[in-house]
Amino acid sequence: MEYTDQQRAAFKDAYTKRFRKERAMLVLLFAVMVPFALTDDDRTVFGLSETVLGPIAIAAMVGGVIFSFRNWRCPACNKGLGRAFNPKRCRWCGIELRGSREARARTRVR
Ligand SMILES: [Zn+2]
Repeated sequence: MEYTDQQRAAFKDAYTKRFRKERAMLVLLFAVMVPFALTDDDRTVFGLSETVLGPIAIAAMVGGVIFSFRNWRCPACNKGLGRAFNPKRCRWCGIELRGSREARARTRVR
């Protein structure tokens, strides 16, 4: 499918917003998971025991997965972007998700 330049720019905008939301969600999730991972049976973190942190961590994980499932989609074809953290193109429709300036600045992670 062919898109106009304006549409392509709008897709990149939408993708950038989704990427930022996804990143914010991951940071939040990490902030919840770390205290949980550090908690032993007898220890508490910020006065919270594992009995309290456990359900919170599980709820955060479930929430994160649901959020990701809904948010982490291609703005053009609305298909899931999979596990790629910051893909340059949609693997389904091939639409460019990031601008070339950002692509040059990115660090390669393998
Ligand atoms: Zn797509």
